[in-house]
Amino acid sequence: MAESDAALKKFQSDVRQWMQENVPADPGFLLPLSFLEVGTEQQLDFLRAWQHKVWQAGYLGMHWPSEFGGQGADPAYQAIVDRELQRVNAPILFNTIGLNWVGPLLLDIGSQESQAKYVKGILSGDEIWCQGFSEPDHGSDLGSVQTRAVRDGDEYVINGSKIWTTLGNFADHMILLARTNTETARKYDGLSFFLAPMKIAGVDAHPIRKVTGEYGFNQVFFTDARIPAATLMREEGQGWGVAMKTLEYERGVSAGQASAHWMVSIQIDDMVDQLRGYQRDGEALLNDPIVRDDTVKLIMEAKASALSRSRMRISPLTSDYPMGLALSTKYRWTEYARRMKLFTAAMQGGHSALYVGDEDAYQGGFWQRAYFSNFGATIGGGTTEVQANIIAEHVLGLPK
Ligand SMILES: Cc1cc2nc3c(=O)[nH]c(=O)nc-3n(C[C@H](O)[C@H](O)[C@H](O)COP(=O)(O)OP(=O)(O)OC[C@H]3O[C@@H](n4cnc5c(N)ncnc54)[C@H](O)[C@@H]3O)c2cc1C
Repeated sequence: MAESDAALKKFQSDVRQWMQENVPADPGFLLPLSFLEVGTEQQLDFLRAWQHKVWQAGYLGMHWPSEFGGQGADPAYQAIVDRELQRVNAPILFNTIGLNWVGPLLLDIGSQESQAKYVKGILSGDEIWCQGFSEPDHGSDLGSVQTRAVRDGDEYVINGSKIWTTLGNFADHMILLARTNTETARKYDGLSFFLAPMKIAGVDAHPIRKVTGEYGFNQVFFTDARIPAATLMREEGQGWGVAMKTLEYERGVSAGQASAHWMVSIQIDDMVDQLRGYQRDGEALLNDPIVRDDTVKLIMEAKASALSRSRMRISPLTSDYPMGLALSTKYRWTEYARRMKLFTAAMQGGHSALYVGDEDAYQGGFWQRAYFSNFGATIGGGTTEVQANIIAEHVLGLPK
């Protein structure tokens, strides 16, 4: 049932009021720009408390069933909350892998037991999820993962290593793609998908430092780690299909995510505001025709991407290629955002090379950090090149 404009307007005004009263003040330490960079216990405690508060207010996963902690509401309500969270630059909702990939996946194809067991903890932030897909030699080539899961009675014994595991050192559970059979004709048919516990013997997460200087992802080692066989999702050998379904949520191809507020919003208007403050040789930088030209090109890209996102909501435009717009939006938006942040940092002239921690850096090195952090978006969930391949082959029907 379509929600009335009046009901949505009233809701928006309630949310605004709530945000005014509840969005926490700056905690005095650096908060991550996205869920990919939660590196310290201090950040984790702060963000977990915030997510819990948003959920308790009824503003998270509003369209998820109420029996699992949602509100059973129309998705339009969550969209309003997300917009308001971004508008006031509220802290991010950090349990993103749970909120936006695992939760929708379980609600879509999970068993009733798994829904009852996991979904509420994802929303409340009490149970943190990570994703164990990539391995040291198998990232884009995901179908070749080698981590082994061998059945032994009521358990599987896991051996191998995952890498770039965001939140892996804090997580309670991992969506784990592992090889249960090494002898299938197609490599994909030897893979299985588990809702694996992380806080057990034989699982060790080692944080890895990022180009931003922060932490957030890990290498996870499994050494004879025993997980219950009941954590297998679907049947043995059906893991590839479940992993592909997960990626649909990760890449925004399927709807159902609990909240879109997983990164600090840095928009084209922020860039323009920033450039307005820059001077070169005593003149406003934006008086330079070349800078103006580059600025306008980025504004046009931002506008085009926003329009593409709106087109996704018009079903006749997506009926021929259901994944096309979503995939191309991820591809273009993440690359545009990276260039936009680089441009804004580069326009600082001599200051552009100064980073977080340098007292002479503009705004504490905000734009430099934002630029480096953006690589997480152009690589994670499938690199730009891999997205381009998928669009070319599966949407446009071009040869390999
Ligand atoms: C911040 C961050 C967080 C991440 N979090 C997680 C996580 O939580 N869980 C998880 O499982 N993974 C995670 N990843 C890993 C991510 O999914 C992989 O890095 C990504 O899939 C690429 O794999 P790779 O690193 O092995 O690079 P490779 O696959 O080795 O690619 C190297 C380069 O080759 C290019 N390339 C590869 N194959 C092709 C091809 N067929 N055609 C053209 N070019 C190609 C790539 O585009 C890339 O430029 C994260 C990554 C980042 C950066």
